[in-house]
Amino acid sequence: MSGTRRKGPPGNGNSSGGRRRTGVCSFCGKSERDVGPIIEGPDGIYICAGCVDLCSTIIKQERRKVSRHAGSVREVPTPRKIREHLDSYVVGQDQAKMCLSVAVYNHYKRLNYLAERQDDDDVEIEKSNVLLIGPTGCGKTLLARSLATFLRVPFAISDATTLTEAGYVGEDVENVLLRLLQAAEYDIEAAERGIIYIDEIDKIGKTNQNVSITRDVSGEGVQQSLLKLLEGTIANIPPQGGRKHPEQQYIQMDTTQILFIVGGTFNGIENTIKKRLGRSMIGFASEQQQGKTDANTNARRSVLKDVTPDDLVHFGMIPEFVGRLPVIAALEPLDEEAMIKILTEPRNAVVRQYQKYFEIENAELIFTEDALREIARKAMKRETGARALRSVIEEIMLKYLYDLPEQPAEGAYQVDVEVVEGRRPLFDNKPVKKKETA
Ligand code: ADP
Repeated sequence: MSGTRRKGPPGNGNSSGGRRRTGVCSFCGKSERDVGPIIEGPDGIYICAGCVDLCSTIIKQERRKVSRHAGSVREVPTPRKIREHLDSYVVGQDQAKMCLSVAVYNHYKRLNYLAERQDDDDVEIEKSNVLLIGPTGCGKTLLARSLATFLRVPFAISDATTLTEAGYVGEDVENVLLRLLQAAEYDIEAAERGIIYIDEIDKIGKTNQNVSITRDVSGEGVQQSLLKLLEGTIANIPPQGGRKHPEQQYIQMDTTQILFIVGGTFNGIENTIKKRLGRSMIGFASEQQQGKTDANTNARRSVLKDVTPDDLVHFGMIPEFVGRLPVIAALEPLDEEAMIKILTEPRNAVVRQYQKYFEIENAELIFTEDALREIARKAMKRETGARALRSVIEEIMLKYLYDLPEQPAEGAYQVDVEVVEGRRPLFDNKPVKKKETA
């Protein structure tokens, strides 16, 4: 197939081409015969379709980079604005939202201040790395991720249980940084101002009984290595990941400006707190008698907010490590009401997503309040917090999504307790007429 040569936009009239070869792409040097149609621009410049595509990809990438990372540092949103953003994705957890909004605001303001300050100041503002304590599935990761998205900074998640001290089977702590670098598309400067979330930080406590012998026995080695990252260091990152070895070329990354948010459940820490506070079990017994929610849940909720750095040291974290986490926020276990809200309220709530699927097919999906409550209850039994909500709904809805495209259009379908419990199919040829709830 012979290529078509087209005249491009008119230039200054001088398109003689000089020494340039006609019919050859000025960018890749390939001829019309090899690459198909070639566009001729002014001054004898030619470009082939392949190079047009390539340029367009490069421009898109550059634009994305600029929009993703640009505003992140200069215009730091106020704590109130940050909090408002968190509110649209995360249900409850007020104390944690307040702590995080202030910590993150201070962190980025501090970076700007340090970048701009002329002379030596006698006031040292410390970096506000954050520790989130709360049960699994209550929003710790979600909070950290939502922050990073809002601030448009690179974000990476790691699991502390996979990290080991050099010499043991597992990952070097530098891999945490590699993930951030990858999230920043290898833009080191952007990565150096990103946010890292490290989950299950409590599992590297010294006194933890469940340590595996494949990790350093005390867990202290990993804490020491992480401590260096938290304090700020120039780290050597193996670009391919995996373990370091001497012949490898490293990427150097400064961790001084990275905001670290670490999270953990710290099971059992409430006993330490209780002891310290000197509260008697009688107090907890009376909570139990109120019969509102599970007594253990109440007990955790009431004391976790009083956690101090000393309690964390008692739990097995090394004092220096705790010292690098000046902001500590406790998250509450989610009760049934919170679970129902999570199902319906956040902008990406799972119920809203299913309703969208139906809307796209010109149908309507309605959940009764009782159905939502039943879904919340089923999820709570799994003891993985709100994480279970999605799987419970998926188990109910999968077969209906499968059949949906073949249903008569413009029907409205109602998920009630019977549908949730599998006693009635959602599509029983009797679509309801109008919206009743949710
Ligand atoms: P963890 O506390 O274990 O880090 P996650 O933040 O990963 O829990 O929560 C798991 C999922 O559950 C989230 O992706 C989100 O869909 C949902 N979720 C948990 N807590 C909340 C919350 N407070 N508000 C809204 N959704 C939540």
